[in-house]
Amino acid sequence: MTLFPDMVRGVLSESIIGRAQGGGLIEIGYHNIREFSKDKHRKTDDTPYGGGVGMVMTCQPIYDCYESVIRDIPEGNKKRVIYMSPKGRMFSHQVAKELSEYDNLIFLCGHYEGVDQRILDEIVDEEISIGDYVVTGGEIPACIVIDAVSRLIDGVLSSSECYEGESVASGILEYPQYTKPREFRGREVPEILLSGDHAKIDRWRLERAVEITRERRPDMLALHPEIEESLLPKKKRRVKNV
Ligand code: SAM
Repeated sequence: MTLFPDMVRGVLSESIIGRAQGGGLIEIGYHNIREFSKDKHRKTDDTPYGGGVGMVMTCQPIYDCYESVIRDIPEGNKKRVIYMSPKGRMFSHQVAKELSEYDNLIFLCGHYEGVDQRILDEIVDEEISIGDYVVTGGEIPACIVIDAVSRLIDGVLSSSECYEGESVASGILEYPQYTKPREFRGREVPEILLSGDHAKIDRWRLERAVEITRERRPDMLALHPEIEESLLPKKKRRVKNV
C-alpha cells in the first residue's frame, strides 16, 4: 500500500524477483492509497495536530485501501501487516526468515512526516526498519524487505545453497568471489581456485570467510565459535561436534 506504486513496481519487476512473479512463485500486488481517498481532491495527507513541519498521511484512504487488500486474502491464510518505519524492529536475515513463513505480507509505505498513529494502532502488526537513518518514503525499504524475503521462497533461487552459504545466512561473511579472466590489470585469481582440489578450495574459502568476518564483524564470529574452531586440528577444538 503506497502513494507511489510505480516506484515499487519498477524495482520488483526486474531480474530474479520479476522472474519469480512471472513463474507464479510469488505474487505482488501494488495498491495505490490515493485511489481510495474520499476527498474531492484525492488528498491523502494533512497538517499535523499540535503543529510542526510537514504533512501526515491520513487514516481514511489507508484504511479503505487495507480493507480492499484483505478482501482478496483467502480465509485461513497467515497474514502480517507491516509498517515500514525508522522506529521499527531492525530488519535482518532472521526477520526475513520469519516473514517468509507467512502466506501474505501487507506493507504500508509511509511518506512525508509519516502516518497518523491511529491507523497504525488499527491495522499494523509490526513496524520494521531497514536501518538507523531516515529515507523519504517506505517504498525503498519495502522493496528491500520484499526482495530479501522472496529469495528465501522455494524455487526463487535455483537452489537453497545459493543463500545458505552467503554472508550472514551462513552465520559469517562470505569468502571473496572471482570469475574470468584469470588476470585483470595485473591482479591474479588465487592459484588454489584453479587447482581443482575441492577439499582445499573449501578450506581456503572458509579461512577467508573467517578472516574477513574477524576483521569486519567480530560480533558475528563470536556468536558462532564452532565455525572458527572447525579450522583447528580436531584435538585442539574446544567446541564439540564441529
Ligand atoms: N517523521 C518520521 C520519523 O521521524 O520517524 C520519518 C518519516 S520518513 C521521512 C517517511 C517514511 O519513510 C516513513 O513513514 C517510513 O514509512 C519510511 N522510512 C523512512 N526511514 C525508514 C527506515 N529507516 N526504515 C523503514 N522505513 C523508513
